[in-house]
Amino acid sequence: MGPSARIDLSALRHNLRRARELAAGSRTYAVIKANAYGHGLLRAAAALDESDALAVARVEEAVALREAGIEAPLLVLEGFADREEMQFAAHHSLEVAIQQPEQIRLLQQGHSGSPLVCWLKVDSGMHRLGFQPEAVEGAWQQLSACDAVAPGVRLMTHFSSADDPSDPCTREQLARFGALRARYGVDCSIANSAGIIGWPDSHSEWVRPGIMLYGASPMLGRTGEQEGLRPVMTLGTRLLAINHFRKGSPIGYGATWVCPEDMRVGVVAAGYGDGYPRHAPNGTPVLVNGSRVPLVGRVSMDMLTVDLRSQPEAQVGDPVILWGEGLPAEQVAEPAGTIAYELFCCVTRRVRVETVGE
Ligand SMILES: *Cc1c(COP(=O)(O)O)cnc(C)c1O
Repeated sequence: MGPSARIDLSALRHNLRRARELAAGSRTYAVIKANAYGHGLLRAAAALDESDALAVARVEEAVALREAGIEAPLLVLEGFADREEMQFAAHHSLEVAIQQPEQIRLLQQGHSGSPLVCWLKVDSGMHRLGFQPEAVEGAWQQLSACDAVAPGVRLMTHFSSADDPSDPCTREQLARFGALRARYGVDCSIANSAGIIGWPDSHSEWVRPGIMLYGASPMLGRTGEQEGLRPVMTLGTRLLAINHFRKGSPIGYGATWVCPEDMRVGVVAAGYGDGYPRHAPNGTPVLVNGSRVPLVGRVSMDMLTVDLRSQPEAQVGDPVILWGEGLPAEQVAEPAGTIAYELFCCVTRRVRVETVGE
């Protein structure tokens, strides 16, 4: 008896429609990198067929999609890393981000496919990937002159801090990128989920929603439900055992929690071996029969323990939800010192997957 992840594909489609409604004048790259944030690459790609296009991080993710018969326009957000990947990209008609001079050098040597649709990645302030604004003109000229590149090189950038509406970085990024956007007058793409929800000025021609498709809010202190989103993944399991302990009994590894009175402690069949965060502290919410109870003691590999004082009716075998329907992943991630993105990505292979809403 272990956990299962229920993936609700109708919620995924609902969230795509919500993203498109928020960015009504833009076209959409549905971001399905990292196994669709842990939701399953191929099932997500198939369910997101209303999106104008799809995006992944790496060439190998895109090749897996093409080999599964997905024909939608497909952007590789990191672009190709070497000549072989460039050939794959050309062969599979992928769109590529161009984020460093080495990629332009490879394109100038040519490839054997049809010209590649290129997105010139601008570093407007994130300081991770991309050309500095002053290097854009040179890169642009070189790409535009290259036979291996499809005409109409596009521009993209990525936000560092758009999850925080009060952070001045986003305005600065928009101003730096906006100057280039005005100069080149080509298709641009700026907004991730936080841009779509929090920064309407950033929508431009193409948006790139990721986390919001899976039903979580990227905005600080908010949940997906508050943005009109529905959870796609519900990680559920059962109560494996219920034990009565005397006041003063320590619970679990390291005895990090001690019963404050005589009480019942529930043992839940899920642990960090399933992807539940080991660092979730005492008090992290868990749903037992639909009611919130606090996690107590350390999370172990296959089990975790909960305080059942508020649930006198709870019995062995009762349903438990770790996040999803009724318990936003953001509210588990926050006490555990992480984000919903990481919770979703970290669900391990032994967790059974069940899809609904096809
Ligand atoms: C992952 C990613 C996105 C999607 O970001 P979310 O915060 O999940 O919406 C968009 N653009 C780029 C370049 C990315 O790497």
